Amino acid sequence: MEKQPIRPSDKPSDNPVVVRFAPSPTGYLHIGGARTAIFNWLYARQTGGKFILRIEDTDAERSTPDSIRGIVEGMKWLGLDWDEGPNFQSRAIGDHQAAAEKLLASGHAYRCFCTKEELDQKREQAVQARQTYIYDGKCRDLLPDQVAENEARGMTSAIRLKVPREQGSLVFEDAVYGSVEKQFRDLEDFIIVRSNGNPLYILSNAVDDIRDRVTHIIRGQDGLANTPKQILLYRALGAPLPVFAHMSLTLDPKKAKISKRRHGEMVAIHYYREKGFLPWAFVNFLVLLGWATTGSREIFSREELIRSFNLKGISRTNSVFNITPGDAGFATDPKALSINAHYLRTMDVEELAVYIRPLLEKEGLWDKAYEADSRQRFLDTINLIRSRFHLITDFTTLGRAYFSDEFPMDPAGLEKHLAARPELAAPLEALGREIRAMETFGEKEVEAKLRELLKELGIKPGILINAVRMALTGQAVGPDFMKSLVILGQDRVADRLSKAAKHFP
Ligand code: GLU
Repeated sequence: MEKQPIRPSDKPSDNPVVVRFAPSPTGYLHIGGARTAIFNWLYARQTGGKFILRIEDTDAERSTPDSIRGIVEGMKWLGLDWDEGPNFQSRAIGDHQAAAEKLLASGHAYRCFCTKEELDQKREQAVQARQTYIYDGKCRDLLPDQVAENEARGMTSAIRLKVPREQGSLVFEDAVYGSVEKQFRDLEDFIIVRSNGNPLYILSNAVDDIRDRVTHIIRGQDGLANTPKQILLYRALGAPLPVFAHMSLTLDPKKAKISKRRHGEMVAIHYYREKGFLPWAFVNFLVLLGWATTGSREIFSREELIRSFNLKGISRTNSVFNITPGDAGFATDPKALSINAHYLRTMDVEELAVYIRPLLEKEGLWDKAYEADSRQRFLDTINLIRSRFHLITDFTTLGRAYFSDEFPMDPAGLEKHLAARPELAAPLEALGREIRAMETFGEKEVEAKLRELLKELGIKPGILINAVRMALTGQAVGPDFMKSLVILGQDRVADRLSKAAKHFP
């Protein structure tokens, strides 16, 4: 039984680490791809190695410029900087063909003149006999004269790799899945170059990795099935084997694989950007899908994650991303939201402002004064209201009243705290008039005014506070009440209370 030399997994080798993210540009940068990119990036940053971005665009029909742009933009947004690339696989076809010629010359590959019809027929026979079809190696032992003769007759040929014929299996050590074994008899002499001269993806992928001296191949689980063939290519080309680390799948709550067909745009990284996630928060969340360190720690700064990441922590168990296909609204993973909220609430407020400004501009809510006199008020506002928010977009939805006089009223809150209490209509208007007349508008002064009014009305403070909050912000809940009044400012508070009557039937 032949066993391949097993390379210890995740062992620091003498060579500097080289990793790559090698997406096929046929769609969005999606959750799974981004996670692969992040793991590679972390590994490179931790080891001081090189991170290459390679676009595997040899499938000309399915690769699109839009997809390439999306991948590059998505990587930039996530903050995953690469050291080389984007390298385009399609520009290296010459290297792939040269490798195939080398394999022919060294006797590791051979020309196969079998026609499509012939192969189809054999495949059909295998199906009839209920056997797995495997190429029978008809052209494997053609003599040089026969090859020359076929070529002289104008017959075209594909190139196939010679898979060892011996009994036994190929065994390799995956850094995540452990020992993986493949019987030689289950591997056919696979095609590496089509009869039209086009290299097959399996060859291109291995040749690029060998040329780029990639030391660790960290990729999705779907690559595991190809790995034995790739190892045979490495061997035949006399190249040292890299460490392979395959990552488990990410599933939806119904345990279905996350896919564009099933989940539409919800698979795409740009979707989460638009929904208001902070890039690092999203990276932090994605890392937890299939990687864990000791303990149940969930929040990692960039530096902490680079320090603590290791291939051993990659889980073999599939992870679950809590998205619901076809959900028109936005109900996403509670953990993703809570991690985002954590960053939103704790990050430096100036840094947060950088994300909020474009959002306000887009909605026509950016006030030039926020760059000048009102700078501090703008920062104080976002600092105050962020305490209840989960997403950046909450600033212009739930927090709209702080930036505009036009804001939506939460229907349930409107009904409960205003419409159902018509007796408050007149007092709210009166309060508005009094607030307008105040000389000093501070927390203490406003509180005194409210106390006066409460005494007069003889109602519970909560009832008045909820009604005022509703009229001022359109929301039944919010940050510290007095602080929010002061932040809104005397004019806005007075105006909104004076017009409170419109909220009553
Ligand atoms: N282009 C492949 C994909 O997008 C990557 C395979 C690999 O990383 O080796 O699935």
